[in-house]
Amino acid sequence: MKAEIIAVGSELLTPDSSDTNSLYLTQKLNEAGCDVQLKTIVGDVREDIEEILRQALRRSDLILFSGGLGPTMDDLTRSAVAGALDRPLIKDPGLLEELRRKFASRGFIMSPNNERQAEVILGADILENRMGTAPGMWIEEKDRIVILLPGPPRELQSVFENHALPRILKKSGETRLETRSFFITGMTESELDAQLAPIYTAYPRVRTTILAGTRHISVRLYCWTQQGSGRRDLDELASRFQEKIGPAIFSTQDEPMEEVVGRMLRESRNTLAIAESCTAGMLGMHVTRVPGSSDYFMGGIECYSDAAKIDLCGVPPGLIRQHGAVSAQVAEALAAGVREKLRASIGLSITGIAGPGGGSPEKPVGLVYIGLADGSGTLNRHRIMPGDRESVRERSTYLALSWLRRFLMKNMG
Ligand code: ATP
Ligand code: MG
Repeated sequence: MKAEIIAVGSELLTPDSSDTNSLYLTQKLNEAGCDVQLKTIVGDVREDIEEILRQALRRSDLILFSGGLGPTMDDLTRSAVAGALDRPLIKDPGLLEELRRKFASRGFIMSPNNERQAEVILGADILENRMGTAPGMWIEEKDRIVILLPGPPRELQSVFENHALPRILKKSGETRLETRSFFITGMTESELDAQLAPIYTAYPRVRTTILAGTRHISVRLYCWTQQGSGRRDLDELASRFQEKIGPAIFSTQDEPMEEVVGRMLRESRNTLAIAESCTAGMLGMHVTRVPGSSDYFMGGIECYSDAAKIDLCGVPPGLIRQHGAVSAQVAEALAAGVREKLRASIGLSITGIAGPGGGSPEKPVGLVYIGLADGSGTLNRHRIMPGDRESVRERSTYLALSWLRRFLMKNMG
């Protein structure tokens, strides 16, 4: 089924708010076998909403509206849809009664404008809204389906999931969109595509997308399947990706890196201490987002100044004088120092130039050293990160985690 989404609300046309309901709906519709081919955002203007619905009826099987079902004058979806379908709005006595009850149960008296929420388009089925007052509607117009959903995301999701989705699934038959996902680190987007493109171009039925972020690269495969047929292409392509770039894939379950590394630390019975200069706590924040991280995380030191590096992490002052705070030597000394101070089995450090100032020809903005220490010695790596200050800090954090994962992989056999 060809689906389209129309988000109603003038606030969605300002720079202050964005239409996230359609992202949720697109995911659910894809899973249910509907192909979302168009999305529109329209302000609270009756003629515009009517016009868009008229166009939509010509091209889409399933048309979903989000928003504009409330009681205020700018909530126009109901009347605009009634106008475009040339059907009257009728006050539903049952709904009116229920609305009165909802208000009374919260200790309010219902104001007259709220009665508009009890107006139903002739022939529509009411989709109950347990999270709010404005119900959704399901309207069949010849071979088209029009669904009206309330705008507040909690309400939209509740109405859609409980009352619209089951009916859509009945209509869409056996077609489903199946996906596979891979999270990848340790190579650039172009390196990755150079390796994968020769493989995925041989599977035209599967759509492959590669998206690079500051944390990792995600590769997703999408394929329409019917009673399982088509799934074989998907599984075959997925396993060929595994063969080609296996070690670079850190999750096929959409797990963030900190979770994967946390599990590896726990399984290998290691403990971690960290010393952070340019990221000043960002690495610790991510490590401890994982519930149960206290099993393996001993703590971290924000050693932003030279004095903190010397006093708190035991870096010899001469090392900083000789090589600078952003150097391989200091990164290793930080990792070894924090490992000892916090009695961990592994020490990990980050020192770099986040910018925008402080760079030089030898040490440009974005230069970051990662240090790692275990009982048998110290190691370091460096990279010049692209992007602004925040991006350099986030990339450094995830480079440190990614490198720790590689180290644990090698040492866990
Ligand atoms: P209400 O009864 O609350 O007025 P409504 O169905 O009339 O519900 P709107 O008035 O259009 O919905 O939107 C209510 C609120 O829901 C908005 O202020 C916004 O916070 C949120 N919202 C609306 N549309 C969207 C959207 N497309 N994506 C994300 N949030 C949205
Ligand atoms: Mg509203």
